[in-house]
Amino acid sequence: MDSLNNQGFAECQRCGTCCKKGGPALHFEDQQLIDAGSIPLASLYTIRKGELARNNVTGGLICLPIEIIKIKSRPDDSFCMYYNDVDASCEIYDKRPFECRAMECWNSDKIAALYDQNRLTRSLVLEKADWLKDLVNTHEAECDLDRIQALVKDRETGDANAASVLTEMVNYDFHLRSIVTEKGKIAPDMLDFVFGRPLNEIISRQFKIKIEKSKTV
Ligand code: SF4
Ligand code: SF4
Repeated sequence: MDSLNNQGFAECQRCGTCCKKGGPALHFEDQQLIDAGSIPLASLYTIRKGELARNNVTGGLICLPIEIIKIKSRPDDSFCMYYNDVDASCEIYDKRPFECRAMECWNSDKIAALYDQNRLTRSLVLEKADWLKDLVNTHEAECDLDRIQALVKDRETGDANAASVLTEMVNYDFHLRSIVTEKGKIAPDMLDFVFGRPLNEIISRQFKIKIEKSKTV
């Protein structure tokens, strides 16, 4: 017999509790929703390899071994951007992603079995856009999070060069975002998908230090 959810049901009541915890990560099965335009790239963001992220199945924070692509949350809270709290509904219910279709809060086995399997990555999503893929790879190489972690440790020991390299990386990330949007290559609302969230924000959140871009930038 199925276990019951916190309202005593063994079927989805569309209460929206799971949607309020944030948007889902995307899997191979969701590529078709992107290709068809049901989920635009502007609705996505990337959590990069090496970033800390919450594992919604085990509940703990993990350092990601591979990037994940997620649906954005609303700007002022954690709710999935497609959650409509006027009538507690999903605005893309018929086209909702794979994880959402698999979610059964009364039975975690189904979501646990697929949770970290077949996740979409930027290189898969951008398979037909070589120039964007190249840009992603260049940015990853310049702003590698393993290297940043090592630099943060060196900075803590008073290494001025490490501090200056971190500032250069933050400057690079800032500049690249500015240039591609000013030149009209990438829409501003696609930046967090293409490059992940701004590097200074990642460093601040993950390592609890503030690296400002230099004042000449
Ligand atoms: S699966 Fe989500 S929307 Fe459905 S009952 Fe559970 S928490 Fe509510
Ligand atoms: S896409 Fe829809 S079902 Fe999935 S988390 Fe967002 S609002 Fe909920």
